[in-house]
Amino acid sequence: MKRILVIYTGGTIGMRTDPVTGALRAFDFTDVYNEFPALRMLDVELDFYDGLTPIDSSNVTPELWVRLAEIVQSRYERYDGFVVLHGTDTMSYTASALSFMFENLAKPVVFTGSQIPMGVLRTDGRENLITAIEIAAASDAEGRPLIPEVVIYFQSHLFRANRATKRSAEQLNAFASMNYPALAEVGVTIHYRKEWIRRVESCERLEISTSMCCDIVVIRLFPGITERTLRAMLGVEGVRGVVLETYGAGNAPTAEWFVDALRDVIGQGVSVVNVTQCHGGAVSAIYETGVALLNAGVISGGDMTTEAAVTKLMYVLGQTDDVATIRRMMLEPLRGERN
Ligand code: ASP
Repeated sequence: MKRILVIYTGGTIGMRTDPVTGALRAFDFTDVYNEFPALRMLDVELDFYDGLTPIDSSNVTPELWVRLAEIVQSRYERYDGFVVLHGTDTMSYTASALSFMFENLAKPVVFTGSQIPMGVLRTDGRENLITAIEIAAASDAEGRPLIPEVVIYFQSHLFRANRATKRSAEQLNAFASMNYPALAEVGVTIHYRKEWIRRVESCERLEISTSMCCDIVVIRLFPGITERTLRAMLGVEGVRGVVLETYGAGNAPTAEWFVDALRDVIGQGVSVVNVTQCHGGAVSAIYETGVALLNAGVISGGDMTTEAAVTKLMYVLGQTDDVATIRRMMLEPLRGERN
């Protein structure tokens, strides 16, 4: 029987309605079989890790990412797969961060959550949790895990974590992966799309990187942005990296002050990564407005999501100070996060 560890971090999935007050309160996962007897029907051995204080995921910090990575690493040999219950608001940041922090991951780490609390009759959490556990336990004919990646399972779709983004605060189908196909689709059966799943390239020990650099800023362009605003954001003391959310296929104003402001900080050793504000598609310097950025030394983020660009930059800056290495690593797909 496969052994799966479920790690509860908080979020809507862990809420139930207090029968007396009607208010939502955190669910006691140590008592999960009483709350949710259907779990006994799963053909897996489940353990629950409840050593984390449940939080709304808007309060997530890189310290929690490190905690999660350590929990998985220290129990890696004991379990066949891991399910992380997490609030949906920042799930794609946490899951994407972990995809970079794990080196040589060969087992599934499946994130899920819900839009409706588990303790509410019409919850989507029940199906999300059960299917996430099934996916974490799935193996091929040789007994190897089917999904040796960090992934997000939500409402019938399994996405690579660093390709996924929260797309709706209302619909149960809350996540999307615009630039990469789903790794599995769930209907009556779970249909795995093996051609899109990463292969494990090494059988070395799982390593984790716990150094994530938070000295970055995200700048979303808007028409009317002034030189003063741009320079203030770029000039924050200690900033080492910038994720610049540009228009369309990576376009930005060609005004001299704009390009100069970027060129100045790049000259001072700041790494600036260009991603598109669009939900799908990639940065490609096909317009003059995009070429000017490239010439100024901006790194193309290709088809990365903002979440992937932010967490990858934090990871890469945590690895090295060498600007050329940072550029090379940002341009290379490290965990299938970009083309
Ligand atoms: N605010 C909640 C959270 O992200 C929303 C959710 O879980 O869906 O923790």
